[in-house]
Parts: sequence; C-alpha cells; structure tokens
Amino acid sequence: MAVPRHKHTRSKVGKSRMHKYIKFAHLNVCPKCKKPVLSHTACLNCGFYKGKEVINVLGELTKKDKKIREKQIKEAEKSQKKESPLTMEGLSQK
Ligand SMILES: [Zn+2]
Repeated sequence: MAVPRHKHTRSKVGKSRMHKYIKFAHLNVCPKCKKPVLSHTACLNCGFYKGKEVINVLGELTKKDKKIREKQIKEAEKSQKKESPLTMEGLSQK
C-alpha cells in the first residue's frame, strides 16, 4: 500500500480540491417557447428542434394539460412577434 511521504495540511487538500465541484449546465433558450433547453437537444416543452417538430408533446398530454400547454405556446409566439427589429423611426421615437 502506498504511504504518503508528508502530511497534507487541510489547506493543501482544500487547494487541490478547489476545482472539484459541480458546474452549472449551460442552457440555451428555446426560440419557440423561450424556455431554457440543453444545447443539441429537443425542447421538452414544445417538442421543437431546429425549427421542426420532433416530439409530439401535445399528443401525450391529457385534455386539460393540452389546453394549458397550447395557451403557453401561443403566448410565447405572440410575445415573439411583438419584438420587431429596430428601425430608424422606432429609434427616433425612443
Ligand atoms: Zn420550446
């Protein structure tokens, strides 16, 4: 069995373990429903990936949940449409 040559102080142990911790996952925002999504994965809220529907999310829900989810998606789309690109007229009004 290996025997340590010198005693490691708590400080040294702490310093070597400084980078051993759980890091936050980098999340992107779904362009359709604006929910946080892991990169390179389909959105579990709306089932879209790269602008195409990959998962039929609404098909697996109950009638009540389906209505709520459809409402959320519509609201997200509405808020997306309101954000129009900047124009010179819009900037001058601000
Ligand atoms: Zn989504």
